[in-house]
Amino acid sequence: MTHKLAVLAGDGIGPEIVDEGLKVLACLQADFGFDAEIEAAAIGGAGYDQAGDPLPEQTLALCRQADAILFGAIGGPQYDDLERDLRPEKGLLRLRSSLTLFSNLRPAMLYPQLADASSLKNELVAGLDIMIVRELTGGIYFGQPRGIRELDNGEREGFNTLVYAEHEVERIARSAFDIAMLRNRKLCSVDKANVLEASELWREVVIRVAAEYPEVELSHMYVDNASMQLVRAPKQFDVIVTSNLFGDILSDTAAMLTGSIGMLPSASLDADGKGMYEPIHGSAPDIVGKGLANPLATILSLAMMLRYSLGQAELAGMIDTAVGNVLNQGFRTADIAGGEHSVSTAEMGDAVVAALRELA
Ligand code: NAD
Repeated sequence: MTHKLAVLAGDGIGPEIVDEGLKVLACLQADFGFDAEIEAAAIGGAGYDQAGDPLPEQTLALCRQADAILFGAIGGPQYDDLERDLRPEKGLLRLRSSLTLFSNLRPAMLYPQLADASSLKNELVAGLDIMIVRELTGGIYFGQPRGIRELDNGEREGFNTLVYAEHEVERIARSAFDIAMLRNRKLCSVDKANVLEASELWREVVIRVAAEYPEVELSHMYVDNASMQLVRAPKQFDVIVTSNLFGDILSDTAAMLTGSIGMLPSASLDADGKGMYEPIHGSAPDIVGKGLANPLATILSLAMMLRYSLGQAELAGMIDTAVGNVLNQGFRTADIAGGEHSVSTAEMGDAVVAALRELA
């Protein structure tokens, strides 16, 4: 079966890190029988430069047809003065909403070799591997009514609405259970059901969906406790599912447990498992063109793509192993080298390809 992949490198270090992802893809095609049709398109500032639009029509059309999308990063100081709708970030936001990518997967994993980069004790985080599934298109960030109004006494009042319809909870729960089935079959739903009605319904719907997944062990945790547990004993979690607001905060906490922004991949999925895969970091204008960018978050995003959109868990596992082997061999880009000898972006990509070939 031929997989159709769209590749959107974007701006800044985007093209540099995506090039290394493409090397890995080429190796999968040459040595592992992976069959893919790969097409590139412009997005963000590059889209604006090319077509006057951060999400050119052609790019959106390509993404609609693709089975999965590999995304680099967007943004840069040269675009900061554009009007809001033409800014690079708008391209990314429009792409996510056009494709209804409501399920945001944010893994927090820490290769044992890099445990010293974390601010937590080595034994608490070494080998950490958790997945936070955050609802991305609903909740308090989108709920109506919202605004700032003036009260009768002249004082102003800000207000937002936390609202989740049953179908929204159902689809994010299903997405999270599906992911738990591909991992260790443990799912923790995080809410604030002791205080919020929206959370009460959230919990009820998650329990209902759980009946479809008898093999997954479901637990519930209040968000205040979850934030505590994430820094007290993070390895107790496998998959966490939560709302937009709680997920925003908890996923950043979890990411920082691992210490390095250049190592973390992410994904956003639709109801059919089609997804966009990208490193969590931005376009890093401060290091563009210097060969300093760590390409591993992008390469690990590719592994997630194989696992969660393309049904190629074995190949995904091989990429994860190859990255682990490269770290064992001592390869480090500057961001994870701790002042020791470091390799360039391209050397790191080449090392992963060499390690992957050894697994063929
Ligand atoms: P950033 O993530 O680009 O950079 C933060 C710091 O981390 C910088 O010092 C950078 O050099 C470093 N860094 C980031 N990725 C790295 C990598 N792979 N290897 C080594 N070091 C890395 O965040 P920022 O500086 O706040 O934003 C820069 C631009 O990126 C802005 O225009 C912002 O809007 C955009 N941005 C885009 C995305 C996205 O494309 N999804 C996400 C966040 C920010």
